[in-house]
Amino acid sequence: MTPLVLDGRLPAREVETRLAERVRALLARNGGAAPTLAVLAAETEAGQPESVRMKGRACGRVGVAALLTLVPAAATTAFVLAEIARLNGDPRVHGIFVQHPLPPGVDERRCFDAVALAKDVGGDSSHSFGRSALGASAFGAATPAAVMRLLAHHGIPLAGREAVVAGRSAMVGKPMAMMLLAADATVTVCHSRSRDLPALVGRAEILVAAVGRPHLIRGSWLRDGAVVIDAGYHPPGIGDIDLTEAAGRCAAYTPVPGGVGPMTIAVLLEHTVSAAERAAASDAPPAARPN
Ligand code: NAP
Repeated sequence: MTPLVLDGRLPAREVETRLAERVRALLARNGGAAPTLAVLAAETEAGQPESVRMKGRACGRVGVAALLTLVPAAATTAFVLAEIARLNGDPRVHGIFVQHPLPPGVDERRCFDAVALAKDVGGDSSHSFGRSALGASAFGAATPAAVMRLLAHHGIPLAGREAVVAGRSAMVGKPMAMMLLAADATVTVCHSRSRDLPALVGRAEILVAAVGRPHLIRGSWLRDGAVVIDAGYHPPGIGDIDLTEAAGRCAAYTPVPGGVGPMTIAVLLEHTVSAAERAAASDAPPAARPN
């Protein structure tokens, strides 16, 4: 079977095109105030991580203003929390994204959890996770939300199907499992203490890999006809799944790079534009009542 390539670049550009229109409408309504995304990221030798540079370029394409706070290697949790508090209170900032990983001395979970719910466009706070898991309004975690968008874009049915998520991190694996469950898949979550990972992976009609280990999952483990989603990324472009041994057995797969990654950035921007639209709607004067 020739597998379907679940390309993420093209649908991400389609999302961006629609977002650019929504940004133009907001600008016309707000008299020039652009939706604004603040990113906090660890300072690197190159200045900022490449993933942050890519987000900045995508902001530019759709007309979202990007504000970057670089977190020095020696920064404390208090430094980052103070910056988040300032951004929470700034009405010109609509979205706040804390780029993982922060420097080792910073309590990342406290920082994620300090982001105001309405501005948590990365969906990484405990509050956002809990609300999304319960079906209440909140921005869902960006990478799992991007996976759901890709599956929907390519018309992959989920209801009643056997989904396996490899990885249980708070940022990817757990929210991914909750979103698949909400879409009526039957979900198994695997982790480093799971027994017989190959057998568990072999049950998957839909497999999402987020183990953070390059090529840990082998193509030879896959069930025939599986839809294979690789959320992993390791420079220069290696995923968590090695498809070389799949021998064309999967029905569809995401390329790395060019699959989940571009859609994740598009989802982050979409959340930011939605946050700006909500802020603009709450600022608007009440509609005039007919006499
Ligand atoms: P992570 O925090 O390191 O979590 C990795 C998960 O994989 C853990 O739950 C771990 O199990 C499990 N695991 C590790 N080795 C395993 C093994 N041998 N067998 C079964 N499970 C194993 O990683 P992450 O942040 O979720 O990222 C996962 C992948 O997604 C990475 O490739 C990363 O590049 C990519 N990604 C991450 C993000 C993000 O925002 N973090 C965004 C996009 C893409 P335990 O829980 O038992 O340790």
